[in-house]
Amino acid sequence: MSSPCFVSQVATKEILIRVTQVCAECYSELQEGDMIHYDMQQYRYLCDCCQQKLESMMDESCQIIQEEAEPSLFC
Ligand SMILES: [Zn+2]
Repeated sequence: MSSPCFVSQVATKEILIRVTQVCAECYSELQEGDMIHYDMQQYRYLCDCCQQKLESMMDESCQIIQEEAEPSLFC
């Protein structure tokens, strides 16, 4: 389940203050206690949903593979 491309952690107040409390991809609000994921390629925090979508689009070296159909990044 864990990916080398992301650092997953439970959101704390300290983290949320630093990341302005929103997912960098879908802008949904991150709550204290949520699982959040640091994207080591793009230096941003993502919600659980966006992390899973990105991970499914990535190859083993964390590069995003373009799908034929435009993937939806919205959760
Ligand atoms: Zn998101």
